[in-house]
Amino acid sequence: MSQTMRALVKREAAEGIWMEEVPTPSPGTNEVLIKVEKTAICGTDLHIYLWDEWSQRNIEPGRVIGHEFVGCIEQLGDGVTGYEVGDRVSAEGHIVCGHCRNCRAGQPHVCANTIGIGVNRDGAFAEYVVTPASNLWPIPDEIAPELAAFFDPFGNAAHCALQFDLVGEDVLITGAGPIGIIAAGICRHVGARHVIITDVNDYRLNLARNMGATRTINVKRDSIAHVVEELGLDGFDIGLEMSGNATAFNDLLHHMYHGGKVALLGLLPDGTGCDWEQIIFKGLELHGIYGRRMYETWYKMTQMVLTGFPLRRALTHHIPIENYEHGFELMKDGECGKVVCDWTGVI
Ligand code: NAD
Ligand code: ZN
Repeated sequence: MSQTMRALVKREAAEGIWMEEVPTPSPGTNEVLIKVEKTAICGTDLHIYLWDEWSQRNIEPGRVIGHEFVGCIEQLGDGVTGYEVGDRVSAEGHIVCGHCRNCRAGQPHVCANTIGIGVNRDGAFAEYVVTPASNLWPIPDEIAPELAAFFDPFGNAAHCALQFDLVGEDVLITGAGPIGIIAAGICRHVGARHVIITDVNDYRLNLARNMGATRTINVKRDSIAHVVEELGLDGFDIGLEMSGNATAFNDLLHHMYHGGKVALLGLLPDGTGCDWEQIIFKGLELHGIYGRRMYETWYKMTQMVLTGFPLRRALTHHIPIENYEHGFELMKDGECGKVVCDWTGVI
């Protein structure tokens, strides 16, 4: 293993990401070094690329970005047990403190002190990444690496959708980004009746339809109200807000059935308002969603893929890492589902 490696580094406090030679990290106690096979581009990576207000507050220039990946263990740090060199793994991108009330209560997905791989410490857009052994998730041989590379957002979709009992229910998803697309598939997979998804992008709506959505609505041309009327629904039992768009959020509230349940994943802009009567008089239950359950969501994802969940339909681009600029362009334009970059030369 060489002393340096290639990595995508947020070098400048400006738009862009740079491929650089940086020192190869070495694993500390209870950590492992992973040789990365594939890294997927997340919306967060795009935010960092674009250097928006959130990244300016959260990213130190010099950071190696990326947290959606799969690879093989190259080296075990001191104290690591239960893993061997060569094991194929992905990893949970949130490193939890282990000490706060929630961690001690067995609820680390709501740890008060999480650190993000590829955000607060160096990440996986690199030939090698170091993570705590406790964050690893072993990937069975039957699961292709280009799918395992995006278990992290698959986990956001699964954690959000599986928050509620979906059997026989009518579901509205606002936002057909990669996470909304996968969530639509999960809702159908576990037995929802109508799964209706909105977006402003036809390419993505088509992916959602192919994944299992029963109806797609481009809100630039059509309305949720129109589809609700056409299908004779009273409203939706379950709402998944996955757009981060204030209008979409309010539209969703408006079309919930009384007593309905809403999961909020999309990051709504500061100061987003809503019609409180929709929530209060309809007795809605609203649930904020962060990350995924450690590690029950990972277990469910793995078993869903092994039992035929068509995750591959969310993957639209599998490109060599050398073409990373093209990958970020695709994400910027939104003409894509998941974009996975390969470090091995084998696609
Ligand atoms: P994305 O930005 O690719 O998807 C959002 C989609 O919403 C886009 O396809 C966009 O065209 C669509 N949209 C925009 N305006 C809309 C409107 N008015 N109505 C319907 N759709 C509209 O993001 P993603 O990666 O799929 O993630 C979804 C959201 O979840 C984002 O807001 C992201 O920041 C957030 N997120 C949250 C967590 C968490 O832990 N809570 C984790 C990952 C991502
Ligand atoms: Zn904690």
